[in-house]
Amino acid sequence: MWTLLLLLLPVAAASGWWLARREDEKDEKQTGRGGFEFSSHYFKGLNYLLNEQPDKAIEVFIRMVEVDSETVETHLALGSLFRRRGEVDRAIRIHQNLIARPTLSLQQRSQALLDLGQDYLSAGLLDRAESLFQELIEKNEHVASALRLLVDIYQQEKDWQQAIATAKKLQSSSGEDMRGMVAHYYCELAEQALDSADDKQARHYLDLALDADERCVRASLVRADMARRAGDCEAALRALERVERQDGDFLPEIIEPLRDCYSRLGREAGMVDYLRRLFNEHQNISLMLALADTLRAQYGDAQAEDFITAQLRNRPSVRGLDHLIEIKLSHADTEVRDNLLILKDLTSQLMRSKPLYSCTQCGFTGKALHWQCPSCKRWNTIKPLQGVEGD
Ligand SMILES: [Zn+2]
Repeated sequence: MWTLLLLLLPVAAASGWWLARREDEKDEKQTGRGGFEFSSHYFKGLNYLLNEQPDKAIEVFIRMVEVDSETVETHLALGSLFRRRGEVDRAIRIHQNLIARPTLSLQQRSQALLDLGQDYLSAGLLDRAESLFQELIEKNEHVASALRLLVDIYQQEKDWQQAIATAKKLQSSSGEDMRGMVAHYYCELAEQALDSADDKQARHYLDLALDADERCVRASLVRADMARRAGDCEAALRALERVERQDGDFLPEIIEPLRDCYSRLGREAGMVDYLRRLFNEHQNISLMLALADTLRAQYGDAQAEDFITAQLRNRPSVRGLDHLIEIKLSHADTEVRDNLLILKDLTSQLMRSKPLYSCTQCGFTGKALHWQCPSCKRWNTIKPLQGVEGD
């Protein structure tokens, strides 16, 4: 509040002085009296300010800054300041007041319209915001900003078809890379189709997602899930194997479905080979543990223990240690077992407090994979942590 007033005070002072001067000029003509003085509004506002009533002071100062060609910029700046501070009603009043002025230039008017649309968006008045942005696009004013904000609206409304059409328009008009987002919108449509048990339509949308962005991991994971449900493990494996080329950070996500597919096909040895190759290239802790598990199932505890111990020497990790203790527990005698249980308690506690995913843009962390960050609302920015930090 006080920071805003500090900004407002000089503007109000200048304007108050200016208003007063204008009146004086009139007076001068009539009475011949000269001299400058501040308008009475200014002192009223100042009094509110000194009496620690900043809300009232702001209202008075805003009223005294007349809208004319010289103060439009101030009004626009104030309006967006209020919006950023969450005082949307005030922002809306300022922008509506601006737009009502017939003296505004075309450029100023369209800037005020764009701002008012953003106020409506912040206030959740999506319909009003949408029609303002469409008006701007029709007039060919602020097209890229308006399209970007429209995409935001359609996302909030989960109107994925409109979001796709608008994002494509934005990409062709501004050159902005919207491929990743468009692919996610197609994935959203695919998941809607799956909710109404329309597998054919879902597959169609997943194909469109991959056409839009061949690196769309989500399309591969959803496709693999569908194939597994339909009992087509070969098709599921083909979809899962795409993930390595698409984004290696997501490899931890394919381990469980891979295990399921290889075991249903009776090709456990194939799983060992594939995981070994992936692990050699990506050095990811989740892959290391999955490989240890398959070694254990194929060749027994000793082989798995040796493998994990060697890996832990290269790269210490709580998850690796926890896994090793678990294998040792399965064949330990009573005395050793008690000590191992104490250790296992410790590693479990350390792991419980660790987030599994984090946003590379805003740092949001969580235990579940979101394709759109719940905090900064960006798409494709949340990644599994196991692969990167490992512990
Ligand atoms: Zn984020």
